[in-house]
Amino acid sequence: MCAQELVLKQRTQILHALCSSGSAEHLEQVLDILFAQGELIWEDYQNIQVPGRALYTNARQLLDLVYTKGVHTCGIFLAALEQVLPEERGDGISFSGCCSELKEKDENQNTSAQTLLTQRPILVSKLQGCIEDALKTLVVSGHFTSADSHEVLVPLYTPSQQARRLLDHVRSKGESAVNVLLQYIQQKQDSGLPLNQEKLSLPKEFIRYQKKLSSSLSAQSCFLSTYGGTSHMSLDDIYTEGQLELAHHCVDVQRPLGLEDIVGAVGTVNEEADTVLVSGEAGSGKSTLLQRLHLLWARGAAFQDFLLLFPFSCRGLYSQQRELSVQELLFQHCCWPDREQEEIFQFIQDHPHLILFTFDGLDELQQSFSDEHRLCCPTQRAPVHILLFNLIQGSLMKGVRKVVTSRPEAVGPVLKKHLRKEVFLKGFSPSGIDCFVRKHHSDPSVAAKVLESLQTNTALLGLCHSPVLCWIVSQCHKELLGCGEGSPQTITDVYLMILQHFLQHQSSTKNTDGFKWLQEHKDTVLHLGQLAFKGIGTSCYVFSGTELETCGVSEKDVSLGFLIQSRDMSFDNSKRYEFLHVTLQCFFAALYIVVSNNTDRSTIQKLFELRYMREAGQSSVCFMACLPSSEKQEFVLGGETTAAETPNLQITATFVSGLLSQRHRSLFIPCCPSTAMEKRSRQVCRCLSKGMQKHFKSIPQPVEGEKKSMHAMPGFVWLIKCIHEMQESQIAKGVMSKLEVDHLKLTYCNIGPIECTALAYVLQHLKNPVGLQLDNNSVGDVGVEQLLPCLHICYSLYLRNNNITDEGICKLIAKGVKCGNFQKIALFNNKLTDACTLHFSHLLKTKQDFLSLRLGNNNITAKGAKQLAEGLKVNHSLQFLGLWGNKIGDAGAEALASALENSKTLVWLSLVGNGVGSTGACALANIIKNCTSLEELWLTENCITRRGVECLVEALAQNTHVKSVWLKNNDLSLEEVEEMTQREPRLVF
Ligand code: ADP
Repeated sequence: MCAQELVLKQRTQILHALCSSGSAEHLEQVLDILFAQGELIWEDYQNIQVPGRALYTNARQLLDLVYTKGVHTCGIFLAALEQVLPEERGDGISFSGCCSELKEKDENQNTSAQTLLTQRPILVSKLQGCIEDALKTLVVSGHFTSADSHEVLVPLYTPSQQARRLLDHVRSKGESAVNVLLQYIQQKQDSGLPLNQEKLSLPKEFIRYQKKLSSSLSAQSCFLSTYGGTSHMSLDDIYTEGQLELAHHCVDVQRPLGLEDIVGAVGTVNEEADTVLVSGEAGSGKSTLLQRLHLLWARGAAFQDFLLLFPFSCRGLYSQQRELSVQELLFQHCCWPDREQEEIFQFIQDHPHLILFTFDGLDELQQSFSDEHRLCCPTQRAPVHILLFNLIQGSLMKGVRKVVTSRPEAVGPVLKKHLRKEVFLKGFSPSGIDCFVRKHHSDPSVAAKVLESLQTNTALLGLCHSPVLCWIVSQCHKELLGCGEGSPQTITDVYLMILQHFLQHQSSTKNTDGFKWLQEHKDTVLHLGQLAFKGIGTSCYVFSGTELETCGVSEKDVSLGFLIQSRDMSFDNSKRYEFLHVTLQCFFAALYIVVSNNTDRSTIQKLFELRYMREAGQSSVCFMACLPSSEKQEFVLGGETTAAETPNLQITATFVSGLLSQRHRSLFIPCCPSTAMEKRSRQVCRCLSKGMQKHFKSIPQPVEGEKKSMHAMPGFVWLIKCIHEMQESQIAKGVMSKLEVDHLKLTYCNIGPIECTALAYVLQHLKNPVGLQLDNNSVGDVGVEQLLPCLHICYSLYLRNNNITDEGICKLIAKGVKCGNFQKIALFNNKLTDACTLHFSHLLKTKQDFLSLRLGNNNITAKGAKQLAEGLKVNHSLQFLGLWGNKIGDAGAEALASALENSKTLVWLSLVGNGVGSTGACALANIIKNCTSLEELWLTENCITRRGVECLVEALAQNTHVKSVWLKNNDLSLEEVEEMTQREPRLVF
């Protein structure tokens, strides 16, 4: 049969092989090859790759085209297909000798544009991992604008799609742009980066093993588990970039971090260490991020500096009772080499820098990290957690790069010592939420409706920054869009929505009666609740069939979809189950505590003291079986929880608070006597109040003359969140009336939009105004909006380093101008531009009691300074103005000077690092001349020359109030500095 007939006859199989994974990658690779072989022209390509059209339609278009082009093209097409498809996908297709030979095209084509076509497959692969760098080169050379770069870097695209987009874009810019790109790639290659793996001669068995590992990893990671195990969503279709941030501020990174940066050099703090930690709250997307990393590697789309990638889930390792060696761990747990195990393991040991291990969910191990028990021999057997700790600290398999994920609470100082770097995963950005919702709903009109309803419920929008909640909200869009006034406000509301959604999804009789649905499924809820509750107590997240049985969980209960079959290969090949997400396990545990009659009376109290579960779970023999014998003793006796358990207990307690709130009472009345509910609710209130009292008592008495300040201790924000879940303002009022403090410091507390909602809900009931310090969190624009309800009680607001843009400021100021107490704001190191100054100008014009405005290290230029000056001209109160690290230049300084020269209140002005020259300095000298209140002027790190300093000296001669003018690092010679200091001692160089 000729190639053309083969294409026709096998149309269905080919379509399936190309498209069924949901990813366009295979199709695009085939197109690359056809391009390179000269079988496609640009117009063909455009006819096939129609943006927004279904993948299957594009593939059909390609098949039609190659068929009409004849036997030769079909032969090339089949050869391309054979090359591109992984073995298992191409299995059903016969190529039976009809493939034409793919020719190596000469690199030296007549024109660079031709080279771009003939080398397309290899260029796509070379560009991955350095797309941003290549774009930078093109921008610097003037061939690309930043808008061109944005078009390439659309987050929706995979790295290989971005590479193709880049090639297409460069092509449209002409020969000279193409030359720049080709030269860039050449240089990169000459410098040896990225690693040229072809030079390494790999043993044949190793290559076979590599293929086996990558195809099993690709199969494991290409779908996201969704509920019921029935609907599978392709990771390519749904994956949305989360926000990554380095734990240690790194000056060179001015761009958003991408996945590749996790293993890249950026932000490294300890070159000796091999382990990178990705930390984030439950549901922030840590597992999904690793899954994406695995998939990109397995497909050859990224992370190709690593020849082998071994994925581990700590949850999966937990059930491993036997002692293992590293070799056994790798081969038995990840992928078994069919032959030459020793040779392959030797190769791994000899080339550690070409190997990557990932460990998901370190916080789910029973044991806290410790580096006491050292092991260095990879063939020596040890308990799995000891192996893990030794791998992480590098005493085993030194040089192998390891990526570990964990919740932040579970990461202690001992582990931090062994980290190469730490990266925070901060959930979705506002545009990420938008992108996720659009990906989740294939019908754009539904997506638009969901987004619209989120915009009108900002509390819910805040919750959606957490990917797991964004997923729930998208999943339950019908309930969300239909619920009008009852739209969810709290995390408990969102989880109740999913509970109802899942239960009714399967139920044959759709119970439309508002409250009866829970009653109808009470038994299921209790069974799953008991399983979850006991699991939380023993840090057990993977359950055997027997454990399900013990709690009465039936097959029907499982089929509802809250439990899914564990992805991790079990060591004894029996089926194991886990909750769809750990937060869902916490939710069921909370439901059990609220609804069941079988829990101890002191359960709630112990839960809020975070020392509950170790004792509570002890009666369950089957759960005890999860623990190694050495742990059992400790389990029975232990009173304290480990750091790793705390977050789950906290989440459970938060749900208990929410479920026991007055507004959900009617839901539980049919299932549980109302007296019992009321009693439990009172117990929660007492616990919250007691917990807060403990925090308040920790406030030290102020030193005389200083303000009374409270630095939040761990757990404070959690208690605030519990109070918010209850949604009873009397409770919030009661608790807050006892807090007497002038300054509330919540720096580095992981505060995002969700926490802001809770904080504002509670803090608005404070008796006296406070300074609220939220520096170094992830408040963002949505968080700022959430804080507005408590703005009236803030006399100062510190929001340094919080990812805030002009949009957030617009909302903040609109409220701020109406708040009598609001007098100071600090916004150092955010993402502000000139647009924000219009709002501040309005604030200064309107509020004649505003005292301090600090906008350092943003992107404000002369234009912004001029706008600000409009407000300053008519303001009669401002004392402190900080614009350190912006770009206002001479023109900006002149505008500010003319607005401030007659100020009677300004005490402190900083224009450090603003590109101010002598012209600006001479203008600023007028402030010194005329303003009687100024004490300090900061002009360090500018480009002021002798001429400017002369003006300042002359002005100072007429002013006795100014204490110092700071001029370090300007354009003066040493002699000039000496001379000027002698003439005016208040100048500081
Ligand atoms: P974690 O491991 O931090 O607890 P997961 O990775 O399990 O969080 O994420 C929970 C859920 O949130 C996932 O099942 C998925 O539905 C959604 N999710 C998380 N991250 C992403 C992402 N980057 N893109 C799309 N969905 C995501």
